[in-house]
Amino acid sequence: MKILVINSGSSSIKFQLFAMPEEKVLAKGLIEKIGEETSFVTYKSEQGQIEAKEKIIDHEKGVMIILSLLTDSQKGAVSSPEEIKGIGHRVVHGGEEFTSSVIISDEVIAQIKKFSELAPLHNPPNLMGIMACKKFLPYATQVAVFDTAFHQSLSPQAYLYAIPFDFYKKYKIRKYGFHGTSHLYVCRRASLLLNKPQANLISCHLGNGCSITAVEKGRSVDTSMGLTPLEGLVMGTRSGDIDPAIIFYLADKGYSIDEINAILNKRSGLLGISGVSNDMRNLVEASRKGEERARIAIEIFCYRIKKYIGAYFAVLGEVDALIFTGGIGQNNAFIRELCLKGLKQLGIILDETKNNTALPTQECLISADNSLVKIFVIPTNEELQIAQDTYRLAQQ
Ligand code: ADP
Repeated sequence: MKILVINSGSSSIKFQLFAMPEEKVLAKGLIEKIGEETSFVTYKSEQGQIEAKEKIIDHEKGVMIILSLLTDSQKGAVSSPEEIKGIGHRVVHGGEEFTSSVIISDEVIAQIKKFSELAPLHNPPNLMGIMACKKFLPYATQVAVFDTAFHQSLSPQAYLYAIPFDFYKKYKIRKYGFHGTSHLYVCRRASLLLNKPQANLISCHLGNGCSITAVEKGRSVDTSMGLTPLEGLVMGTRSGDIDPAIIFYLADKGYSIDEINAILNKRSGLLGISGVSNDMRNLVEASRKGEERARIAIEIFCYRIKKYIGAYFAVLGEVDALIFTGGIGQNNAFIRELCLKGLKQLGIILDETKNNTALPTQECLISADNSLVKIFVIPTNEELQIAQDTYRLAQQ
């Protein structure tokens, strides 16, 4: 069965076409800068590659182009759009409503719209992708896969903030957590590698956005992102945890709420501290060249991760394995080492050689033989997780 996976962002659409259950990627691509004069299309299949500059005014046009690429007489991967039986959509926020992936109905669309209040930058473009696919592929089963769903197993002690309870009742202010599809995927892989279906795991997704999740017997019990992705670890441009009073202090200094929002989301984190870049590769290089603030940014980044690992160790009591994934987690041995420095007492011991020789695109065990906790690098594959869920639901 051919399954198309769509990740529709505010100005981009990423897509991958899978043959299921073989889990084979038949084609993939990206449309960037939707709505601008020079939108950019990249596409790759076994039959060849296409790169083109074209004005793509909206997501509907974007989906039309994806379908024409997939059915291209020379480089296409299907002979007609009808071959695509299922479409899996990444949806960022599923509120408290969705604890797993679902077939998209009018009711589901209404709920996704409702949760746009909680994810105004993400859910509306996710919906645009859904609506365009519904229009052009009405016969295919459309499935929504939520970033928040995996974390719906959190208990109130983990998801409630200690603010007046009415705010939870009235506005649903609580921890939701994100990156759920990635954490779920790497945790399932780790369970298979451990040959232990009910494993206790700590999963570190370190990309541009970063989050860490405590998994007990396969279920998420705590996670670092919160009501929004701003909470928790230090990220590329997001602050992660701060004293909320900083916001009032800045407001007193004359910054508007919108400005403070932009400061914490776009001008903080690695970029804000270093003043150099939000890209870890640049920071590591700058730090090696003696740039002090780049060095401090890396230290703060790793120190925060280490604190969360300690906290989640306490939450779980027993930990079978720790997982690193995401662009930084998969690629950077030095960062992994810094995060785990001094955790021997917790039974977390890295094998230096294995860590330094781990390949970013392969699943690797990087812990020492005497480490009580196994340490894995596991490349994330949210698209495959979405394809698997969509295939399962499309068969029903
Ligand atoms: P996103 O969260 O946007 O999906 P990715 O998971 O692709 O992001 O991760 C992007 C991050 O990965 C960037 O900050 C980049 O610095 C980092 N990264 C990629 N390769 C390396 C590398 N070799 N060393 C350190 N960081 C890397």
